[in-house]
Amino acid sequence: MIFMEEKISFIKDGLRLDGRRPDELRPIKIEVGVLARADGSCYVEMGKNRVIAAVYGPREVHPRHLQEVTRAIVRYRYNMASFSVEERRRPGPDRRSYELSKVGREALEPVILTSYYPRSVIDVFVEILQADAGTRTAGINAASVALADAGIPMRGLISSCAAGKVGGEIVLDPMKEEDNFGDADMPIAMTPSGEITLLQMDGGLTIDEFHEAMELAKSGCRQIYEVQRKVLIERYSQLEGERGEQAEVTACD
Ligand code: UDP
Repeated sequence: MIFMEEKISFIKDGLRLDGRRPDELRPIKIEVGVLARADGSCYVEMGKNRVIAAVYGPREVHPRHLQEVTRAIVRYRYNMASFSVEERRRPGPDRRSYELSKVGREALEPVILTSYYPRSVIDVFVEILQADAGTRTAGINAASVALADAGIPMRGLISSCAAGKVGGEIVLDPMKEEDNFGDADMPIAMTPSGEITLLQMDGGLTIDEFHEAMELAKSGCRQIYEVQRKVLIERYSQLEGERGEQAEVTACD
């Protein structure tokens, strides 16, 4: 309730409740290749959010009537674990998880070269292990890296984050209290060249505030993209090194 008393509670001396500046992202950590049985996988922490993404495929579509003769279909399942939120969530799909699965798929599909794999399916599973607002964006970031880890050809990585309005100010990457009691929340997803593949808004912004929020969210996506790119490069240079060592051992044998 303290958050609702006066707007100033959200930002004090230029800093937010968690000590961030208005234009600052929460700390982000990304790990690639965390699941042995998935074709591609990724673990993401964005602030207190903990998310894991697993990609399977391209593989045969079941049931077969879902097959597309000219391209692969993409399935994306967003699932929030019962223990991921303060008040235990009833397990299983609900209206919100259907929505977030749909927007997650639509955010990623434009960059996936689906025409390379006719009659097949690429399955993306996103599991929310701990939630603190921004799970749809954290899930999309994880899924994008997991798709790259699975070797799925893409036009680029998708990066995603939200901007919001709290205490009359536009802020980057709102956390739970800001999301719950703020005036607006606007998640976006973006390609490296700046094409927007997700745009949603909860609450209201003026046109000027919208433009400010969009620029801020885009700058957040660019920062996330750099982390995604770095971890993928590190992972694959490491694998390349390991392959080189193995080849040397074989040659010595
Ligand atoms: N949340 C919750 N229980 C639910 C759904 C959401 O406690 O059943 C919390 C959770 O912390 C989530 C936040 O509310 O991250 C914001 O949810 P929203 O639907 O805006 O999606 P998100 O911001 O996570 O993409």
